[in-house]
Amino acid sequence: MTRPRTTPPRPLDIEALFPELAAHRGTTTRLHPRPGTPTPYDSSVGGPLLWPADEPWPTCTQEHRRNKGRRIEDVHEERRIHAAAHDRALTDGERERLTALQRRHKVPDIGDTHPVPLLALAQLYARDVPNLPAPPGRDLLQVLWCPFEAHGLPHTPGVHLRWRDSEAATDAVLTNPPLPPVVGYEGLVPEPCVLHPEPGVVEYAWPELLDEEVQLRIEEWEEGLWESEEDGGEPLSYDADFAVAAGWKVGGHAYWGVTGPHPMVCSCGTPMELLLAIRPSEHGGSRSWIPLEDEVLAPTHVSVGRVGSLNVFVCPADPAHGHRTSLQG
Ligand SMILES: [Zn+2]
Ligand SMILES: [Zn+2]
Repeated sequence: MTRPRTTPPRPLDIEALFPELAAHRGTTTRLHPRPGTPTPYDSSVGGPLLWPADEPWPTCTQEHRRNKGRRIEDVHEERRIHAAAHDRALTDGERERLTALQRRHKVPDIGDTHPVPLLALAQLYARDVPNLPAPPGRDLLQVLWCPFEAHGLPHTPGVHLRWRDSEAATDAVLTNPPLPPVVGYEGLVPEPCVLHPEPGVVEYAWPELLDEEVQLRIEEWEEGLWESEEDGGEPLSYDADFAVAAGWKVGGHAYWGVTGPHPMVCSCGTPMELLLAIRPSEHGGSRSWIPLEDEVLAPTHVSVGRVGSLNVFVCPADPAHGHRTSLQG
């Protein structure tokens, strides 16, 4: 881990205004991904996984189209061209190259259940993320997904979780995992990022999960702020500035801004808890979450359902009970 990232203090003490919120307070670990060159021994988004060389790489065999899409190397090159030209117009040569890179390619002889290698999305060591709900004997969470938004409704990438004992996996590490020939959507291809985890960031429940009377008082407070706002700035809002921290995070409260809250209950009957929030933007709905040290809007380039968020939930009774996802986007 390199230098930390620090969430600024909230713009005001929201519990002083609404003491009932104390009962809905939670904490999350913001991951603060930043472009870098992580190793298998680092927590990362889009970095190499600590994967035993003799262990089969997981594949998706669920039935869906998988024979057409973008090439992974083209997606990375397209982003490099845009990054190089961030403060100038694209050259004619760059435009021409981008047109070629943005082509979708057909892969011959791939049926709808042909095993497609999953893409490594993230890995998190418990030493870096203290609230990671690792099962006994495991200290590393690895997240992979199928690079086609063809799983469940609405269409989401198929998320695969692997809990591992990192001590038992360090002898011979896989260096060249198989890659899918094409991906269905470029937003599922992460750029390699190192993480700067910040535990203990305070959050509150999504507004629709609060008592109705508290919701109404919060709405009145927000309306008052809108009316008194004269300089054209963005007034504070409960859901954007206080409820759910922006960006990739582990634990804490879930963002439900698109569908509204759904009960997430495990097949064993236990209410599930948020494991990981995969977010397209590190700002969320408010600039108040930009850390003190730097400002990077979308370091991972990951977005689900175009510019949506994916919440991954697990069962607190036993993470092996399987996970559920909720797409907000
Ligand atoms: Zn799939
Ligand atoms: Zn369960």
